[in-house]
Amino acid sequence: MGADMVRVRFAPSPTGLPHIGNLRTALFNWLFARHHGGVFVLRIEDTDVARKVEGAEEAILSSLRWMGLDWDEGPYFQSGRLPLYQKTARALVESGHAYHCFCSTERLDEMRREQMRRKMPPGYDRLCRNLTPAQREELLALGITPVIRFRIPLEGQVRFNDLVKGQVTFNHSTLDDFVLLKADGFPTYHLANIVDDHDMRISHVLRADEWLASTPRHLLLYQALGYEPPQFVHLPMILSDDRSKLSKRHGAVSVTEFQVQGFLPQAMVNFMALLGWSLDDHTEILTQEELVRHFSVERLARTGAIFNREKLEWMNGVYLRKLTLEDFIGMAQSYLERDLPPSVPRPLNRGYLLQMAPFIQERARTLGEVSGLADFFFLVDVNYEVGLLLKGIEKDAHKQGRDVAEATPMAVEALDKAMEALEQAAVFEPEPLEQAFRVLGEELGLSPGGFFGLLRVALTGRTASPPLFNTISILSRERSLTRLAVARGKLEPTRL
Ligand code: GLU
Repeated sequence: MGADMVRVRFAPSPTGLPHIGNLRTALFNWLFARHHGGVFVLRIEDTDVARKVEGAEEAILSSLRWMGLDWDEGPYFQSGRLPLYQKTARALVESGHAYHCFCSTERLDEMRREQMRRKMPPGYDRLCRNLTPAQREELLALGITPVIRFRIPLEGQVRFNDLVKGQVTFNHSTLDDFVLLKADGFPTYHLANIVDDHDMRISHVLRADEWLASTPRHLLLYQALGYEPPQFVHLPMILSDDRSKLSKRHGAVSVTEFQVQGFLPQAMVNFMALLGWSLDDHTEILTQEELVRHFSVERLARTGAIFNREKLEWMNGVYLRKLTLEDFIGMAQSYLERDLPPSVPRPLNRGYLLQMAPFIQERARTLGEVSGLADFFFLVDVNYEVGLLLKGIEKDAHKQGRDVAEATPMAVEALDKAMEALEQAAVFEPEPLEQAFRVLGEELGLSPGGFFGLLRVALTGRTASPPLFNTISILSRERSLTRLAVARGKLEPTRL
């Protein structure tokens, strides 16, 4: 391995479903590794047994796979490496950089309460820092299992150059003697994290901004152990539209949820890459290969990145339209079969999907939206308010100086003529249908907006749909006639 070989890691804790922030960290590490021809390591930091969530590990792995973020080494599990951390903690005690602490939870709780009462900064009061060997033996003889704490040098500063934040300085006086090894023999995050970064020869640590405050502790540990520290790169925070920290109340934040809602992994990758990184000040659409080619730490933002769901939906629409029709249909079909009411028989007919899909592919922003945009192609009855049928016709009546009440007989007449025209249409194709209906509209004295709007609502139950005459030809003569008759019945219930 060359001395300047790039080795990075994604080190999630399995404490919940992976969210946007976690996977953005994974993505940036992956892009950095691939850009430099380096190694991307996956390490599961599962030493916090109390916070472990069932199924989280699997969700992390499957989200990474879904986004195409393949790893070269691992997954390593910290829970399987306990002896290494224990050995390191003991070595630190022997070299005087760490010490045994026998303080009980009750004492520490009381100390914390007292610190809060006196508005003092929280932190261990170092009671056990200078125990004599005899005192230690005595406490051990009482059967108390100690924890191991790091001995922070009392004077001085830690300085480092973060590749995003620049020069960062922390005074030792702001750091407390944190725990390295717990009484149950499990390491804390700090210990396991640096032991592994060293052992796995990690060259760059790209991680969330919230870990910046842990970095001085880590650097002191590296120093105490005589290890060369990696380069640190703390990534910009992800904020919501209102500039608060992104959280569940801003909609789906777990990546699995985005998958369920019908976002494409290519779109998620593109979108997430732009959360705190940019190529220039205008390029929005970048493929995974382009991202790998251009990714650089220099173009990481120093300030928070705004998570804009509208933009994500727009971008997903761009990626949906890039799919081949065949691929789009494959995906749309499974979402339709998931979302359409049970009355629609499954599996859906391929030939029929092939006809309607291009019109939906043009419009959908997510696959989850497909059934809402296309259900009228499949349902037996479409539902709508009668008033919706008359919207355009009422405007025509008004323009012609007629009473609004006349809109109903005007619409009934229009539907009757439309049904006649559909029955007589020799070629059931969009263009000849449109020609015939344009002429008919003029004969009826209706504007295209009024006449076609009426037909659109009658056929689809909505005021916006794919082009009307394509819709009619896909629906077929029979189904179109039935829907027009139903609309007529709604307008004139007694004469049906
Ligand atoms: N296990 C930590 C996390 O869940 C890793 C932080 C780091 O990358 O050092 O984010």
